[in-house]
Amino acid sequence: MQKTRVVIIGGGPAGLTAALYTARAQLSTIVIVGDKLGGQISTTNDVDNYPGFPDGVTGPDLAAAMKAQAERFGAQFVYDFVTEVDFTKGSPFRVKTPSEEYIADAVIVTIGASPRHLGVPGEDEFTARGVSWCATCDGFFFRGKEIIVVGGGDSALQEAIFLTKFATKVNIIHRRDELRASVALQSRVRSNLKINFVWDTVVEEIKGNGSVNAVTLKNVKTGERTEYPTQGVFIFIGHDPNSQPFKGQLALDDDGYLLIDSLMRTNVEGVFAGGEIADKLWRQAATSVGQGCAAALSAVDWLQENEATLQPLEEAVSG
Ligand code: NAP
Repeated sequence: MQKTRVVIIGGGPAGLTAALYTARAQLSTIVIVGDKLGGQISTTNDVDNYPGFPDGVTGPDLAAAMKAQAERFGAQFVYDFVTEVDFTKGSPFRVKTPSEEYIADAVIVTIGASPRHLGVPGEDEFTARGVSWCATCDGFFFRGKEIIVVGGGDSALQEAIFLTKFATKVNIIHRRDELRASVALQSRVRSNLKINFVWDTVVEEIKGNGSVNAVTLKNVKTGERTEYPTQGVFIFIGHDPNSQPFKGQLALDDDGYLLIDSLMRTNVEGVFAGGEIADKLWRQAATSVGQGCAAALSAVDWLQENEATLQPLEEAVSG
């Protein structure tokens, strides 16, 4: 059992920033990272839109620099997964991983969200070899090529427009004949001559030889299957928040995102959240950094205001 003033759950940009702020406020801080430092950014080769890097930066390099900065102020990092939390009795809170139990005065949840997968053959095999969930990161590699985008929401349309900077043609494969995306985005897409729609259609299989060279498409109305040559498959069919360990402990919205107020407070006093676990709209490294910072500042204030009434961690461990 380990006790600490602050446990941060999640090691993406929000968690790494929160750790910098709580550690620098002289609060002992343990960050439970998962298996990959940086979260979603760890799969991004080229971050061009994070301020301060005029020549861009790789996701792993950015995450490593953020970690080093937090470590300079004493934050500790643990590569493990949170399996269970107990927030029911208020502070101090209990956070469990398969190998350890942590007791903390305050918790900051920055565990993020994961892009949804299609769940079709070839998707895992060709990840990063033609299959991508990030146009900003990987679009550049598809210069002069024909690619497909899967999905009919705002993300699919917005990213399809972005991808026309590189690709010669972008085919949007959508499972219905009506888009979920906003009217404004729809009209931008319809006036883009490089974008074509394939309606009522799903991807059944992604095929290739070392990298993607075709997909099998199925028309859901006629049942007809076609082999469609393409070198890139971009999937934008929504995200799922990683909120499983918090079900029944923290208030979630209907989609499973944590509900927080403008001070990044969850419904449990002393538990704060920021980044994509509580943000389904912006989902940028830069916005997550801001939200992680705000969550940490709120936690620091809360700990200061409640110092006199918090049960000493020594007693919490023996009790
Ligand atoms: P979304 O709105 O949930 O759309 C997901 C799309 O993927 C839908 O068209 C859905 O089809 C399709 N889909 C879901 N599961 C699928 C599957 N297994 N196979 C094939 N297709 C599947 O997700 P999003 O586009 O990521 O947007 C998320 C939120 O962020 C939304 O609130 C959106 O407005 C917001 N956002 C806003 C902007 C902007 O304003 N510029 C940009 C990006 C995102 P159906 O339509 O048939 O359900």
